[in-house]
Amino acid sequence: MLLYLHFDSKTVKEPVISLTTLEKKTLINIIRGSVGAREGELFVEIEDSRASEIIEFIRSKGVEVTEIREKIAKSEDCIHCGACISICPVEVFSLNDDFRVEAEVEKCIRCGICIYVCPVKALELPSI
Ligand code: SF4
Ligand code: SF4
Repeated sequence: MLLYLHFDSKTVKEPVISLTTLEKKTLINIIRGSVGAREGELFVEIEDSRASEIIEFIRSKGVEVTEIREKIAKSEDCIHCGACISICPVEVFSLNDDFRVEAEVEKCIRCGICIYVCPVKALELPSI
């Protein structure tokens, strides 16, 4: 499961991710983020089967947690150039038998890279 974590000026100074991995004995995959002195945000992937208890633990440390359901959206403007196929780290895009690019959006981890390579701006990440 993909989560968006928002840290305020207090929680950004706490080792919340380390505490969660140690105390809940789980692995947390940090996909991307930005951390400053006053606040921070992280996109992380956690175990689906233990999502509730992990989310509860992170929230108990004062961090705002949002479950991400919105994935990449590909519009009708796509010209099927294929540029997004090789750049996506989780192989969301592929060519079908008619040489058109299809997207398995449920695999998207919201890294955002593909948006920058699309020549016609056909890709968009809906806000969470
Ligand atoms: S946002 Fe990242 S994971 Fe999602 S489709 Fe684009 S490149 Fe792939
Ligand atoms: S990069 Fe853009 S135009 Fe090219 S196949 Fe992907 S979505 Fe379509």
